[in-house]
Amino acid sequence: GRKPQREFDYFALSLQWPGTICASTRHCCASNGCCRSEPLQTFTIHGLWPDYDDGTWPACCRRTQFEMDKILPLKDMLDKYWPSLYCSSSSTCFSGKGPFWAHEWEKHGTCSAPVVQDELQYFTIALDLYFKYNVTEMLSSGGIQISNGKEYALSDVIDTIKHAFGGSPQMVCKKGSIEELRLCFDKELKPRDCLTTSLMNGSVSRTKHCPQYITLPKYDPL
Ligand code: 5GP
Ligand code: 5GP
Repeated sequence: GRKPQREFDYFALSLQWPGTICASTRHCCASNGCCRSEPLQTFTIHGLWPDYDDGTWPACCRRTQFEMDKILPLKDMLDKYWPSLYCSSSSTCFSGKGPFWAHEWEKHGTCSAPVVQDELQYFTIALDLYFKYNVTEMLSSGGIQISNGKEYALSDVIDTIKHAFGGSPQMVCKKGSIEELRLCFDKELKPRDCLTTSLMNGSVSRTKHCPQYITLPKYDPL
């Protein structure tokens, strides 16, 4: 069998910005993906990811297949705040194709022990953290508003989150816009910095594809 993977060091709550993803996706679906008719001007959840301090991460750890029945009490919240913007089915570690949630649970959730013991707890903790630390609100309180044209200095965006959240985020951009923003937590679920730059002689970066000035574009229903 496979060698069990060592315990993770910290969590990253990965959030995605529909305004950026939906501007370039060719996938489309009616109910809650990129073709919804109502605007969606908030970050939504991508996943809660266990990470190692050296910049790597475990994946697909325990053979525990996703079961929708276990998270039915959270279904309405997940549809609203953790939608699959692509609306396609996703490949999973252990059960073939499944919803986005199945992909996230099997790939990342199963590596979250001992903090997370089961599927319901995984999704509950992710939603709790998402509501407790509202990134969309933190940015707008810091003067970083949703707009199709306005550019913000990357350093201002990072500083705003640092101050409001209490740890520096990790960011991913696409064509000059914020695509993902990740908040990091220690194993007591307290805010911490994402990645420790002291390793790998400073080459570990907290941002990916982000230019010095970035936008936070509106979601325009297709
Ligand atoms: P990408 O290559 O698009 O950045 O990431 C592809 C997939 O790799 C993500 O959906 C996620 O599952 C995983 N991944 C990327 N970066 C990280 C990370 O920093 N931590 C963890 N745990 N997974 C990541
Ligand atoms: P990751 O491996 O990066 O955690 O998750 C990305 C996988 O989930 C990809 O296979 C992607 O096709 C699928 N997926 C389904 N819906 C979404 C979505 O709304 N956002 C992202 N980033 N991936 C999604």
